[in-house]
Amino acid sequence: MKHESPPRAWVDVDLEAIAHNLDIVRQALPDTALMPVIKAGAYGHGLEPVARRLDTDGISFFGVANAGEARRLSRAGVRTKPFILGPTIPDEREEVVLNNWGCTVSTVEEAEHFQSLAALYDKTVLLHVAVDTGMGREGFLPAQLGEIAPRLKALPNVMVDGVMSHFPAADEDVPYTQQEIALFTDCVQLLQQHFRLRYRHIAASAGELGYEVPVANLARPGLLLYGVAPMASIYDGVLRPTLELHSRISLVRELPAGHGVAYGRTFITPRPTRVATIGIGYADGWNRHLSGHGARLFINGCYCPMLGRVTMDQIMADVTDVPGVSPGDEVELIGPHIPATEVAERAQTIVWEIFTGLGPRLPRFY
Ligand SMILES: *Cc1c(COP(=O)(O)O)cnc(C)c1O
Repeated sequence: MKHESPPRAWVDVDLEAIAHNLDIVRQALPDTALMPVIKAGAYGHGLEPVARRLDTDGISFFGVANAGEARRLSRAGVRTKPFILGPTIPDEREEVVLNNWGCTVSTVEEAEHFQSLAALYDKTVLLHVAVDTGMGREGFLPAQLGEIAPRLKALPNVMVDGVMSHFPAADEDVPYTQQEIALFTDCVQLLQQHFRLRYRHIAASAGELGYEVPVANLARPGLLLYGVAPMASIYDGVLRPTLELHSRISLVRELPAGHGVAYGRTFITPRPTRVATIGIGYADGWNRHLSGHGARLFINGCYCPMLGRVTMDQIMADVTDVPGVSPGDEVELIGPHIPATEVAERAQTIVWEIFTGLGPRLPRFY
């Protein structure tokens, strides 16, 4: 095609900022191996580009959510081993065994299934025993470990290579989390009587910020890599933002006082108002819960209130006080003037959901 129109809305990703943030985590945890978590398309930043940028020596695994993401890494030529964080579904396990991906087990049945698949292909599968120290999502209960350890050890094609858990409340409940660290330590010591545990891990971003876990030797940073610390910390001011969200104005009009804007007419102009229509909506991940909660946009050097409800592909903003606004002008939705944390707060959600909600319709520029 001779001329391709520019996108109405897009994401600018700073891969160097992600690499910088990983370095910051590495400096803070000098004796700990790292599993950068790049599930959910690297939190909306783009799975393959982020993996390629971080695919250097010194990283033990890439944390992913499922076999599909692990496969995409393999196909992209990424050398670092993918690690599937949650439980595997039975139909994923053959691919896990054949590709030597890392994964967890939470039941003896799962381990036996892995054993039969590994025996079929004459392979050894390396598994991390998941322990449920409080999250209630996966893992053996601590009280089961004494009984199951010998049963896992008896599986000839299964090698228990690690132990993992996950904090449910590291950013909300310090005493609970400290208790949990003691429990995890006990679990590791018990399992170490049976296995050589090369990897011992429990902390995601919040856990890495607030706690020492002497028994752990691997950390799983996610959000920190994308420039946001989930709690006040030594990282404040040193992490770099990694992503900007932009759109463009499609139309600028003058509406009289008393005119409704968007579905439900939840906003009625209190005065004659210049209204810009902007080419982004909830289908792109501009969360519909931002409607009516004071979301603002940055246009031509000014903050402008978003008006009314977010629609699927378009939003409206009040540009009455912004000089010289015209169709085609850029709009900052997340960027230097509007942090992602502000958007999450206005949408009454968490910044993880804002990042991962950025939709496939938005092209990513690196
Ligand atoms: C998503 C995930 C992480 C990363 O969490 P952040 O809070 O983004 O650092 C770490 N571990 C597990 C098991 C996860 O599911």
